[in-house]
Amino acid sequence: MTKLVAAALTLFLAATIATAQSPTPVAAPLTVIRAGTLIDGASDAPRRNQLIFVRADHIEKISDASAQIPAGATVIDLSSSTVLPGLIDSHTHIFLWGEDPAKGGYDANILKAGIALRAARATFACRRALEQGFTTLRDVETEGAGYGDVEIKQAIAEGTIPGPRLFCATRAISSTGGYDLQDYAPELDMPKGAQIIDGPVQARKAAREQLDHGADWIKVYMTHRSWTDKQGHLVSQPTLTVEELKAVVDEAHGWGKKVACHAYNGIGLQRALDGGCDSIEHGLEITDAQIAQMAGQGTWYCPTLSPYYEDWGPADTPAGKRDRARAAAHEISFKKAMQAHLKIVFGTDIGGMPWTESMAQEFPRMVNLGMSPMDAIHAATSRPADMLDMKGEIGVVAPGAYADIVAVSADPLKDITVLEHVNFVMHNGAIYKNETTK
Ligand SMILES: [Zn+2]
Repeated sequence: MTKLVAAALTLFLAATIATAQSPTPVAAPLTVIRAGTLIDGASDAPRRNQLIFVRADHIEKISDASAQIPAGATVIDLSSSTVLPGLIDSHTHIFLWGEDPAKGGYDANILKAGIALRAARATFACRRALEQGFTTLRDVETEGAGYGDVEIKQAIAEGTIPGPRLFCATRAISSTGGYDLQDYAPELDMPKGAQIIDGPVQARKAAREQLDHGADWIKVYMTHRSWTDKQGHLVSQPTLTVEELKAVVDEAHGWGKKVACHAYNGIGLQRALDGGCDSIEHGLEITDAQIAQMAGQGTWYCPTLSPYYEDWGPADTPAGKRDRARAAAHEISFKKAMQAHLKIVFGTDIGGMPWTESMAQEFPRMVNLGMSPMDAIHAATSRPADMLDMKGEIGVVAPGAYADIVAVSADPLKDITVLEHVNFVMHNGAIYKNETTK
């Protein structure tokens, strides 16, 4: 044993003894929320007049309103509100600031903003998400901002900035010719919005690097450009091969992590499924056979309806035709996925849309296509919790779960758009917003 190790061991033992001798810790203060209606995120029916006991960052128990509230507890009266679990958006980009062509489109994010400005914008995005009741985000890549998401997550964890619980995908992976920035002079060595690989060896190396630097998920682009063919059908350019994707999936699964695949349709979507991806992102056009394959493999489906209704080109231009074909195909696939009972999770792709927009606008899009309001709520609560390996811990108001709790003033089962006006937000037991008394 070296002297250094011996000294460290002595310090460790001293610390252990000190801990053992300290008095029994006093229980954290109790907060009791009176919920007029509780939609717990997992059950099919709401419950009336419930009491939610919160201690520190967890939910201790749920009782009906007749239960006694201990003296000294802080009571929050949400008896005229509908209370739900903190919402989960499974497809966000905190490092994107919109893609409005009039403001330079996607490229301006990378070419006109340095890393400090991008971090400031990501900080704003995190606060915006939390204020809207989204207490967990699966943030599916930083679009050229490197491992910034992992550091924003760190800033949230240390209490430097407010923000939701983040699942970070870091840089994302695509292949040569498979991601922006594109269409610049070939002599220029342009930055890329994703890590570019060619071949299974590079694919595995990229996954290893990203996992090493803190990726909670790996994001892979399985399609890139899209256009309409002479018949008006949507076509999208495939990127990684099955072998390349399999290397990524094998590596990620070895680390106990999952792989999200951006895939519009066609060959790229088929390769995503054959390569064993865990979630299909967007999935604008999924064939019946692919729906069956997803059901068989237990693949999650994260549609993102809202952004495909924004920034359409003029109807008679190639871009305009493509934009309309994308939205039309997406609606059909969404309905098919619902009928097949695929595991649909709520995703906005916000960041692609400006962060000033409402995230909950995706709810009425889903409901208008035939999803029941309760199912849409489950798509943003208990179902993604399962996908994120946090079943029972988030996306549910139940004993033992993190105290991520939101409220709205009306019944979202009657009018889903009320979720656009969350007026109470608790995250990890701390209140970030309470406008219920106004
Ligand atoms: Zn996206």
